Amino acid sequence: KHRFSPIGSSMDSVRHASSAPVASFQLSPSCALKLQKGDITVWSVDGSTDAIVNAANERMLGGGGVDGAIHRAAGPELLEACKKVPEVRAAVRCPTGEARITPAFRLPVAYVIHTVGPIYDMDRHSDVSLRNAYKNSLKVAKENNVQYIAFPAISCGVYRFPYKEASRIAISTVKEFSEGLKEVHFVLFSDELYNIWLETAQELL
Ligand code: ADP
Repeated sequence: KHRFSPIGSSMDSVRHASSAPVASFQLSPSCALKLQKGDITVWSVDGSTDAIVNAANERMLGGGGVDGAIHRAAGPELLEACKKVPEVRAAVRCPTGEARITPAFRLPVAYVIHTVGPIYDMDRHSDVSLRNAYKNSLKVAKENNVQYIAFPAISCGVYRFPYKEASRIAISTVKEFSEGLKEVHFVLFSDELYNIWLETAQELL
């Protein structure tokens, strides 16, 4: 299988536009955790077995934050694909904590996995819902033979989840459900998020 990186590259197989450092950990003997600061829309490792995760909303018709960035970079075909995902009830294509998959169109990955994290405080079970968003994204990834997956910090934008608590749920859940994947990446959009994820990985792994 074609891999982009030259042999001996210290960046391993990671190919992305930024030159931000990548911190590596092991979730299990066969699955690595990689943390980097950056823009998830330019992330890819292998292309054909890659997926990025979108912090979407239940309607799945785009939005602000990482959702808007992913739709802009993927092109209008992504919205058309999202519209084809059946509604489970009025205006709900992906209930909170669940995940749906579409092609990634103009993005350098094969799939976008759309998940919906909880709005912090407005959901008394927001920790369970955040865990489910990670767990179900990984389940859908494995069902589609994804080997490399990148997550943003789900619910850490307009959904206001506290970063430290979100990082503990994120890293512990991907550790628990990493079997079958080669690498799980977090692409964090700010220094603050990156530093918190790094500290939590050092604590938990
Ligand atoms: P949510 O509604 O789940 O809170 P947001 O999109 O508001 O989703 O925020 C989720 C996280 O994604 C935030 O930490 C935000 O800073 C981050 N983010 C926004 N744009 C990008 C991007 N292009 N790549 C990676 N992360 C991003």
